[in-house]
Amino acid sequence: MSMIPFDDRDGFIWLDGTLVNWRDAKVHVLTHGLHYASSVFEGERAYAGKIFKSREHSERLHKSAEMLGFKIPYSVDVLERAKEEVLVANKAVDAYVRPLAWRGSEMMAVSAQASTIHVAIACWAWPSMFKPEIKEKGIRLCWARYKRPSPETEPVFSKAAGLYMICTIGKHEAEAKGYQDALMLDWRGNLAEATGANLFLVINGEIHTPTPDCFLDGITRRTVMDLARARQIKVIERHMRPEELDKAQEIFLTGTAAEITPVGEIEGRMFTPGAITKQLMDDYASAVRAHTKHQAA
Ligand code: PMP
Repeated sequence: MSMIPFDDRDGFIWLDGTLVNWRDAKVHVLTHGLHYASSVFEGERAYAGKIFKSREHSERLHKSAEMLGFKIPYSVDVLERAKEEVLVANKAVDAYVRPLAWRGSEMMAVSAQASTIHVAIACWAWPSMFKPEIKEKGIRLCWARYKRPSPETEPVFSKAAGLYMICTIGKHEAEAKGYQDALMLDWRGNLAEATGANLFLVINGEIHTPTPDCFLDGITRRTVMDLARARQIKVIERHMRPEELDKAQEIFLTGTAAEITPVGEIEGRMFTPGAITKQLMDDYASAVRAHTKHQAA
């Protein structure tokens, strides 16, 4: 893992409408986004120079901000062009792309009606969220301490920085115990998701995934559901109790950063990455690079 800190790198970051030198893309310590978590972000991946489902991510960023009560001052079209600029300026071909929007420094209290909204877009190389040799056998998960909150408690469908507080706690506790990630239940005790990826179970040749009624309905999740249906695999969204893990032959996670990651263990329950997981991993790898094939044809 690269230990070069993220604030001390070469390259360019798009900040409020212009490309600035990477090291100059700064905020002041008195920033509402930092103190009160009025901040939303995206995580995207470019494959062979093109961001997969780019527009969906820009649209989600806008919606995430709306759910927190602020409006991003750049249209989806402007964001689309800005992301392209960032990739080109950094000579990035296969890269992770991170747009971020936050309330600035005009007001420093819970109320921040007059704050300006800032937007930054960075990108960097992030080949795999989990080490490839671990990913192959399936990652090991433990149970997370905290549960996904009810939609009555938080704006759960916003990709809001504040909702990641419990994810970082869960992930750190998992890593301290020798696991790669933590599996979160929802507020009712149903299976929900990992700290940065959605959950899928393969049960007798069918795919079962928790209904996303209190967490992010991931863009990768929806892509993988379509890929499975294209293979005539039945896909079922439903609420599942944790005991249902005993019925599953294969488990995997999906997310922009995680892509499709097989799970080998959930605290003592063992799984082997199987044929369906492998097929979908292949299909996903083709889907994200489909545009390169079209260009070659
Ligand atoms: N859940 C959480 C908590 C996440 O952080 C992510 C990654 N954005 C996902 C699910 C998967 O979302 P996507 O497939 O859109 O990246």
